[in-house]
Formats: sequence, C-alpha cells, structure tokens
Amino acid sequence: MEVKELDGNEWKYHGEGNRSLVVSHIQHCQVLRFLKFPIELAQPNKALEEVPRRLKNVVDFSKHVMKLLLGHNFVQPGEVIQLPLDFVRQLALKIQPERPDLTKFQTSHQIEKRPPLCIEIKPKCGFIPFSSHITKDIKRRVCRYCMHQHLKVANGKWKRISKYCPLDLFSGNKQRMYIALKSLLQEPQNNLKIFKNGELIFGCKDDQDCLMDLNELANHLKVYFFPANGVVSGPQCTRTVISELIHVITVALVSNADTCRTGDMKRTRVSEERSHCEASHFRKEVLRSGIHVVENSGLSKGCVLSRILQVQMLDMMDIDGIYPLYLRVQQHLEEFPKDRSRLHLDGPYNESFYESLSDLHSQDDETVDYAAQKIHQYRVATTAKDCSIMIALSPCLLEERPEPGTIIQTSRACVVYSVSILDLDPKPYENIAHQYKLDGKIINHYVQSTRAKKDVTTPNFYKENEECTLFFHSV
Ligand code: ZN
Repeated sequence: MEVKELDGNEWKYHGEGNRSLVVSHIQHCQVLRFLKFPIELAQPNKALEEVPRRLKNVVDFSKHVMKLLLGHNFVQPGEVIQLPLDFVRQLALKIQPERPDLTKFQTSHQIEKRPPLCIEIKPKCGFIPFSSHITKDIKRRVCRYCMHQHLKVANGKWKRISKYCPLDLFSGNKQRMYIALKSLLQEPQNNLKIFKNGELIFGCKDDQDCLMDLNELANHLKVYFFPANGVVSGPQCTRTVISELIHVITVALVSNADTCRTGDMKRTRVSEERSHCEASHFRKEVLRSGIHVVENSGLSKGCVLSRILQVQMLDMMDIDGIYPLYLRVQQHLEEFPKDRSRLHLDGPYNESFYESLSDLHSQDDETVDYAAQKIHQYRVATTAKDCSIMIALSPCLLEERPEPGTIIQTSRACVVYSVSILDLDPKPYENIAHQYKLDGKIINHYVQSTRAKKDVTTPNFYKENEECTLFFHSV
C-alpha cells in the first residue's frame, strides 16, 4: 500500500471492537485496522514497546497458521504498515463523531442503485465436544452456543434467546441451514450483519443499537433479489426476498472453493451424536410437526464451513481437558519463567508452531511440552470458533459472461460472490483460566434455568411417573 499520499478525507469509519478499530477507503477495497489501548496505562512505555511484537504476532498468526489451515482462498492476512502521524491525527478527528459511544447509528442513503452487498456471519462452534475429559453430561447433548444464550439473556446482554444453533448451520443439510439462517435473521445479535456499500443495514452495531426490521431489509434487497412473481411490497414480498437471500448465503457457504461448485465432492461428516444439539429449534420442529428430513447431511470438503469446522475440531480435549494442562504449564513457569518463549505461549507464530498443531494423537507423557502442544491446538481451535465469514456479493448481468463458479443465480439476475474469513487473531494464552470459569458458569446456569422451566411446566403426577410418555384427560 502506498502510504505517502494518504488523505484522511478518503477514509471512513467502519467499526470497532474491544481491541481494534477499522476504517475503510471510500472507493477502493482497502481497510486500515488500528489496535486500541486504554488512555491511562500503568506502564505506557512498556505497552508501546510491546506494540511491534503484538502487530507481528497478529499478522504472523494469520499468515503462518490460519491461512495454511483454512485455505489460501479464504484468508488475507494483511500487512503491518507505518502511517504518517499527520494522517492518523486527521483521521482520528474525522471519525471521532461517528464512534458508537458518542452518536447513534444512522443508515445512510442509498448511493448507487445496486452497490456491493456484504454479509458477515459469526457461526461459532459447530460441533458437540467429544472429549473423554468432559465431566458434565449436558455438554454432550446441548451445544455451547445454545447454553450460553440463557446466561447472556439472564445477564442482560441480549433481550431474547436466539433460535439459531450453529450445529444446524454446519450440518450441510439444506433444511437445517435454512432454519439456522432464518433464526439469525430473526435475532441477529452479533452473529449476523449485512452491509450495503460498506454501511450497516441490518444487525447490531457493537452489541447494541439493533437494526432488524425484516421488511426494511427486504426493501433494501429488492433490487438484488426482485421477486419473480412481480409482488413488490407487503409480507409476501418480504418472504420471497428473504428466501432468496437465504438461498444465496447457503450456496456461498457450501460451495467448494477449489472447484467452486456444490457437486458430490468428498464430504466432511461429523458423527451423528456430535452434530445434533438437543436445544436446536430445528430438532424441536422436526419432533413437533414430524417434518421428514430427506436430504443427506455433510459439507463438501473445500467449502468455507467445512474448513472452519475442521480447525475448530483441533480442540479434542475440551476446556475440561485443557485446564489441568494449563495448570501444569503455570506451575512449570513459576519455576522456569524463561521457558515461556521456548514453549511458544505468546508466539512467535512460525513454522514450528504450525507443526505442533499436526500431532493430534500423542499420549500424555506428563511433560510440559505435551501440555503446551495441546494448548496450542486448543487456542487455534478457539480462534476458529470465534471467526467471521464475509460473503461479498455484487450484481452482474449474464450478458457480461461472468466466470462460471463465481456466480449465484437469483430469480432476477445473478450475483458474483466471494467468501473470506475474518477475525483470526490469536487468543491469549491467559484466556484459558477465564474460559474455564465461564464454561462452568454457562453450564450451571443452563442446567438451573432449564430445570426451573421444567418444574413450572410439568404437572406433578407426570413427574412421578417419568417412564410414562402419554397420558389421557378424562372426558
Ligand atoms: Zn445448539
């Protein structure tokens, strides 16, 4: 990137999280990402000294680890660049009024008729853990996302429990994926965002200010997915447009990146008991209405969901198995603090780190090296459980003869699409202790709240006869 001629006026605020802030170029497909630091630091000089290493770690982790694991097609690691101070000052002043704690979010007016559309999905963990270290049986039946929903609503983070279950999205079964995506549209939380020309038109901005009117979304999308039946407004129009959107997202998620088609490729199949969650809305619907699930499940090997799922499944021990190993490493570090770098606990993320990920079936020989290796695998899997998928769509005409395999047909025209994976930063080693505590909290809360609900809804005589599955009212 040419940094000499940067002009702050050509960049606009895009969004921010706890650790970084992103601005995007108003014309080119370029973004700049800045790391954030608290204004008052206990040791400001030390924190600044750390910056180059932290930046290098972020880029190296993407380049040398996640790109190799997830595929070259999906990961663009970016680069570290030095920016002129004047440019950064000018930019900081320009974007300040748009930052979330100062202003309310506003949607901008449509700039072009059919500007590019971006759909960002944070799918979360797509399998039921299979580790023998798991102590609570509920973890083998209900997925982490569905359990966590109950705690998040109780804590006031979200108002309603989402019906989305990641296992349905990762199933590769079109009916389950349809329900999963529809649930995300009904309750996007921070798992679904839709941008038009770079502006958020649907989803929550920074965990609040939710924009989620499906009719309004359908209005935005009509020009892309114009209903073939000619209905241009009303509930039927919304339904048709939303179905088209779900269709396009599904095709993008299951298409094979290497061959760009959805045919009968080799499939990634997660065993039956690990791919079903008891809390899934789809599962409940199937039981309630007796829908017949006809289609085969499984993901074609090169598709984005399959690549992410495979990396997530590097977590073979679950936090229950990892936490004792973390304690083993901590104890070792107390005695030999210098071993922290030999064990690659904070990078560098180079070839030898990457190689340590491939040995999945080694036996515990009680060494600290074994513990570190399992922790590396767990941390990489954790990044994949928290990554985002970005699907970019731009309308095209069939007369333009786009390359087959890069397009998805809609009822009106066709869209050229590309898929990439974002949010691939390494998760800090120290997070393991926090993850362990949080896991306990999530499970306890879920067990308590579902038990309380059962107590309210189950009549006493029914409870006493648990084997009984049918009872008749007297007429
Ligand atoms: Zn679930």
